[in-house]
Amino acid sequence: MPNMDPKKTPMPEQEPLVRARNFKEVSYGYTAEQAVNEAKRCLNCKNRPCMTGCPVSVRIPEFIAKVAEGDFEGAYGIIKSTNSLPAVCGRVCPQERQCESKCVRGIKGEPVGIGRLERFCADHMRDKQPDPEIPTPNGHKVAIIGAGPAGLTAAGDLAKLGYEVTVFEAFHTAGGVLMYGIPEFRLPKSIVRSEIEGLEKLGVKIMTNMVIGKVLSVDELFSMGFEAVFIGSGAGLPRFMGIDGEDLVGVYSANEYLTRINLMKAYDDEYFTPIKKSKNVAVVGGGNVAMDSARSAMRLGAEKVYIIYRRSMDELPARKEEVHHAQEEGIEFRLLTNPTRVIGDKNGQVEAIECVKMELGDPDASGRRSPKVIEGSEFALDVDTVIMALGTSPNPLLRMTTPGLETNSKGTLIVNENECTTKEGVFAGGDAVTGAATVILAMGAGKKAAAAIDDYIRNK
Ligand code: FAD
Ligand code: SF4
Repeated sequence: MPNMDPKKTPMPEQEPLVRARNFKEVSYGYTAEQAVNEAKRCLNCKNRPCMTGCPVSVRIPEFIAKVAEGDFEGAYGIIKSTNSLPAVCGRVCPQERQCESKCVRGIKGEPVGIGRLERFCADHMRDKQPDPEIPTPNGHKVAIIGAGPAGLTAAGDLAKLGYEVTVFEAFHTAGGVLMYGIPEFRLPKSIVRSEIEGLEKLGVKIMTNMVIGKVLSVDELFSMGFEAVFIGSGAGLPRFMGIDGEDLVGVYSANEYLTRINLMKAYDDEYFTPIKKSKNVAVVGGGNVAMDSARSAMRLGAEKVYIIYRRSMDELPARKEEVHHAQEEGIEFRLLTNPTRVIGDKNGQVEAIECVKMELGDPDASGRRSPKVIEGSEFALDVDTVIMALGTSPNPLLRMTTPGLETNSKGTLIVNENECTTKEGVFAGGDAVTGAATVILAMGAGKKAAAAIDDYIRNK
């Protein structure tokens, strides 16, 4: 019998005021009973509308039907056949804009909790998976630059086809933004590590502390015998506003702030990573990166944390769930507000941020209503830390050191429909091509590129 409850089965979570002061995961995940109950809300629609919203085509109704039967292993097998990082996607995908936005149960109530069920299956099977069968080697070598979701997905798919795959990662740890950007309370690092270990068991070699473009060039990779190269180097170069005071002590890019906390474990007293112990913090921006920075600042002990965003709540690009969690944790949203300068004291330390009020005008080229300044509306907020979360662009290092590799005016790599760049044998995908986007889109690009690389090498 289907479960006709119009609402999703709630997911147990830490209390907001408790979790706002610790870095443990916010949501505990479904129990088996809750997962079966939620799976029974699925109507197993014949035309599978939810699948059209999934960039990696997970066979959603099929896996949910298995969950409803209590066959969690079967469900996991179905997810894993098209999605190599289900424990990650179940936690961080913007499902409300993807699969769940197409779910028919969403017409008269809440959609099926597809992401929550995906997470449940991955967590349930975490320690129960047999080692994968090592594919028969096909004698060809492929190099992957960057161990983020794009590079790791391409690596996994190519390894399954028998390629000898080596991933070169600039940082000392693989995972990309999953390790250095998204905080522990949203995506525990042990989960990312176990997904990566699965790839290593398939035979993927991961070499860390290897900045391609410095330690080795792309052309040197070819002369080492790699027949194709995939660039999944992300978009890690932060943007600033260009306003006065951005050079004051206490102004961070979100990337630096989150990397210190996540990758260098600044929140853990056993590590000596320096980070400012702030009292009042302003985070500028409205995306996931802004929410993560604000919630991390709160967890590090800040008393007051503001999100400063120049549009309204309707345009705020962060995942809905993260906004809801941030509000519950006491983050104050200053919407239709834009900073004009950061004000410092005589020692060069941040002491306030000056802002203006905005109003929404006509829609701009992106279709969003463009914000306009309300003249004479300046005001200041007393803060000792400002975190700029305004988006990022790709680092130009690879373009600068690779003859024939072209980028567009935004600095993103130019690729054709098969993720092939302007240099022969070099493919690319993820944020390095799209600019800052999402985990699942990066994975989709890695998948497509793996198929194109296989085709390229077989037909060379
Ligand atoms: P990345 O994850 O950036 O990985 C690129 C890797 O390449 C990095 O490890 C980098 O060190 C390495 N690299 C770079 N240059 C070189 C080089 N020259 N040589 C060797 N290695 C190199 N998306 C969601 O879907 N949901 C979310 O909730 C979400 N939250 C986010 C929160 C934060 C704080 C951030 C920053 C992003 C978030 N995103 C989210 C976006 C998502 O994480 C990215 O779109 C995704 O990680 C892009 O994957 P990628 O593989 O292209 O790049
Ligand atoms: Fe189930 Fe919703 Fe997909 Fe229909 S659209 S099959 S109800 S998840």
